[in-house]
Amino acid sequence: MLANYFKEFPNQEGFFNEYGGAFIPPQLESEMRKINDAYFAISKSHKFISELRDIRKHFQGRPTPVYHCNRLSQKYGGQIYLKREDLNHTGAHKLNHCMGEALLAKYMGKKKLIAETGAGQHGVALATAAAYFGLECEIHMGEVDMKKEYPNVQRMKILGATVVPVSHGLKTLKEAVDSAFEAYLEDPINTIYCIGSVVGPHPFPMMVRDFQRIVGIEAKDQFFDMTGELPDNIVACVGGGSNAMGIFSAFLNDAACRLYGIEPAGKSLSTIGDHAATMTHGKPGIIHGFKCYLLQDENGEPAAVHSVASGLDYPGIGPEHSMLRDLNKVTYESISDKECIDAFFELSRLEGIIPALESSHAVAFAMKLAKENPKQSILVNLSGRGDKDLDYVIENFGLPQ
Ligand SMILES: *Cc1c(COP(=O)(O)O)cnc(C)c1O
Repeated sequence: MLANYFKEFPNQEGFFNEYGGAFIPPQLESEMRKINDAYFAISKSHKFISELRDIRKHFQGRPTPVYHCNRLSQKYGGQIYLKREDLNHTGAHKLNHCMGEALLAKYMGKKKLIAETGAGQHGVALATAAAYFGLECEIHMGEVDMKKEYPNVQRMKILGATVVPVSHGLKTLKEAVDSAFEAYLEDPINTIYCIGSVVGPHPFPMMVRDFQRIVGIEAKDQFFDMTGELPDNIVACVGGGSNAMGIFSAFLNDAACRLYGIEPAGKSLSTIGDHAATMTHGKPGIIHGFKCYLLQDENGEPAAVHSVASGLDYPGIGPEHSMLRDLNKVTYESISDKECIDAFFELSRLEGIIPALESSHAVAFAMKLAKENPKQSILVNLSGRGDKDLDYVIENFGLPQ
């Protein structure tokens, strides 16, 4: 693609071609510029890099393994591998960017971390990072998600965070982002907003991507070590798109590796509000301070969305994904709630790994892809573990025969 990809994208103003940027109120502009300047001044220093490397190894338990799924591959064909981000401390990839954001906050002298959370994974990861660094932490969460992901609410509280319930609109991720933003605007000097994905105004999509790149860097090395080749296909679920950018980033220049981003088709792709397949049904628009493909209602407002996976029900998508789609560098497909639940049980029973419902979307697509391409290898980013989803799955879908 481009030798200097990471230097060229985003550009100085935070654009990935036409997407991204910072469409924000003037009082936020100077704060975002400060964060951007601090990021470049601090995060490239030897001290910061070695401290983060130490944290990843000794606190997070990195590198996470790449695992070959014997029984799943036998049943579906192909050679299916998992990058085990479910084994990252706190059970998902999100701690990768949370430790980076919190370390930056510490260097900047901030006292409090503020964020939204959908499935609760970002909230737990950030509360963990806050505890590690001795910072305050305030997490905004939709009431619907609080109910669905109750164990994560308890985890955040045990870790010392304050959880702010959001009770307007659909009471899910989108409203939680609005609420967290408002709280941050009240005191941008002492607080920092730590976004949960490769979304939001510049510099967040860039920072979160950079902190997630470790996933792809490790996975590429590990896969090559195991097989002597690069994977034919790389699959990751996409909500905002951080775990996907993490793994894709290492393979953008490898023309032979096909990259697949998997969105939730939910209950049905034919009704707005029943899915969150942004790339299939969205068109460019602005949400939460950045431009991206966006699911919109008839008034051009962000549409209502649905997925069994709380971490995927977001009407927007990261600006870098929006660009990569236009460049045909990544193919975006969708998986329904039902296919996701089937994959959730299939991986549990064939491999002894209970995946997060978000990650189950990627597993479901890998199963389909393997059937169609029995000679190819597939590397799935298993973004998280499914313990948080057990009650919801059993209550709503029961156990299979
Ligand atoms: C939050 C979450 C996601 C979705 O976030 P991305 O930014 O799209 O990666 C996916 N998987 C798990 C386990 C999550 O917690």
